[in-house]
Amino acid sequence: MSVKDIQQALNLFRGYLKRKDLKVTRQREILLRRIFERETHFSAEDLEDYVKGDGISKATIYRSLQLLCEAELISEVGLDDNRRMYEHTYGHDPHDHIVCVDCKKVFEFDGKSVVKLHELVTKRLGFTPVGHRLRIEATCEALRANGVCNRDEIKLL
Ligand SMILES: [Zn+2]
Ligand SMILES: [Zn+2]
Repeated sequence: MSVKDIQQALNLFRGYLKRKDLKVTRQREILLRRIFERETHFSAEDLEDYVKGDGISKATIYRSLQLLCEAELISEVGLDDNRRMYEHTYGHDPHDHIVCVDCKKVFEFDGKSVVKLHELVTKRLGFTPVGHRLRIEATCEALRANGVCNRDEIKLL
């Protein structure tokens, strides 16, 4: 994400905090920057690594993740059943994920057709969709072709 986009995300976060009567702290700003300067899915533990040396407490990290989700700048993605994973919402089109069952490599695809399908199905049953979480578990190309995943190319969850 460009410096300008990060600045924009930061402004939105500041606005959100002010509306909620919460403090705009240097630590919250650092966390946002560390998240938005990377293009990857991440867990709270990853984020702890990103800010290692910045003197930010675990509690602040977890609270900020929650606030960033509420501000709709990031969202939780159901990539892993064992831990919560997050990604940028701001600056990204809606998309869904395909995850290799072995190497956990993640592939993103346009979620618009999935949204349409969900609307059709839910409307027919008298519901209004407000969100969805989809994870397609699959075998990656290397796993199919060679029987093993290409570990060098693993995009870690
Ligand atoms: Zn694989
Ligand atoms: Zn994603």
